[in-house]
Amino acid sequence: MDLDFKNKKALVRVDFNVPLDADYNISDDTRMRAAMPTVQHILKKGGAVILMSHLGRPQKKKNEDRSINTEKFTLKHVVDHLSELTGVTVKFCPETVGPIATKMANELHMGEILLLENTRFQKEESAGDEKFAKSLASLADLYVNDAFGTAHRAHASTTTVAKFFPFTNTSFGFLMENEIKNATRVLNSPEKPVTAIIGGAKVSDKIMLLDKLLDLADNIVIGGGMAYTFLLAQGGKVGKSLVEKDKVDMALSILKKAKENDVNIYLPEDSVIADDFSNDANFKTVNSNEIPDGWMGLDIGEQARRKFEAVVLMSKTILWNGPMGVFEMENFSNGTKSIAYGVAQATSLGAFSLIGGGDSVSAINQTGLADKVSYVSTGGGAMLEFLEGKELPGIKAITVG
Ligand code: AMP
Repeated sequence: MDLDFKNKKALVRVDFNVPLDADYNISDDTRMRAAMPTVQHILKKGGAVILMSHLGRPQKKKNEDRSINTEKFTLKHVVDHLSELTGVTVKFCPETVGPIATKMANELHMGEILLLENTRFQKEESAGDEKFAKSLASLADLYVNDAFGTAHRAHASTTTVAKFFPFTNTSFGFLMENEIKNATRVLNSPEKPVTAIIGGAKVSDKIMLLDKLLDLADNIVIGGGMAYTFLLAQGGKVGKSLVEKDKVDMALSILKKAKENDVNIYLPEDSVIADDFSNDANFKTVNSNEIPDGWMGLDIGEQARRKFEAVVLMSKTILWNGPMGVFEMENFSNGTKSIAYGVAQATSLGAFSLIGGGDSVSAINQTGLADKVSYVSTGGGAMLEFLEGKELPGIKAITVG
């Protein structure tokens, strides 16, 4: 972030899309804290900060009634906490663009912070509208994008806005730089052996990632609900486990390509199965290919845990995306926990580990091991697309101009 911020107003796109409780208190401020190095840097260098972010999805596409619940989605909810985090009394603008925003931006002094109202209150935001983006750009001298979590969206505040600044007046923030640096480390000549641990509910969400990994990884460990489509494809009996029957052929072609590419695929030998999708269900451990009718696999079993951990421990580069089971339920969280411990231990032995994607991030946070891995990404969908090898519009807007 080598812009000269002295006496400049910087329009900074952050991701303050934080979870709020019923009384609109912030229940997890990770995303806000992640943006602080960039905000503090600009202030320290003698600039002023104009922050913009979205919060939730105030404009539901399929909603006939397009009126917005402004009370629920206003960024006003984060102002006090932002003042605490920055040590500066944050000014809040009740609109995103318009005469009040222009006036407040004009009157902003160096060292001050102005937070604009939720960018998604404007339908022009998701449309990437030029006029709206131009109005945003008119508020400041410089543009900084530090919202990695929305970098895969070609929205006005994440992408279009950049073109209304001279190319040399735009930059990534520190968070964005870090995300790109760490993901690139996995993608570009990573130290071998490379192991990807892929889990979560569905194969369909991870096909592109798996495809990319077949050219990159030495080992792919597959757990979670998606494992059962692979087990079914190989002739296993999976009871009423989560399966995508229409992805069986896809699973077979992934297995075939893995063989051709010399990539080891590890599926769970055993599973913790339950007779209901509930923490109170009866459960037991069986061979993953012999799940009785009426039962479903909700976690990897003990043998699988040991095997997966052994693979992780001999790896030098590790990517983890998706839980090994229904980790939200205590009885089915052991597989995910043991992977978290394994990744942390491998990291202490010198491996580089990247935790990328929503649920594996909550899993690593739940185990309290987030600071024992190399990098925990803040961008769920954005990280997934970056790892799939896609060009993210929010990144392209700044690197290409
Ligand atoms: P994803 O967003 O695709 O990473 O999926 C995460 C979700 O997958 C979590 O909510 C898990 O509860 C769920 N999940 C993981 N393993 C299973 C399983 N064996 N059966 C059903 N759901 C699962």
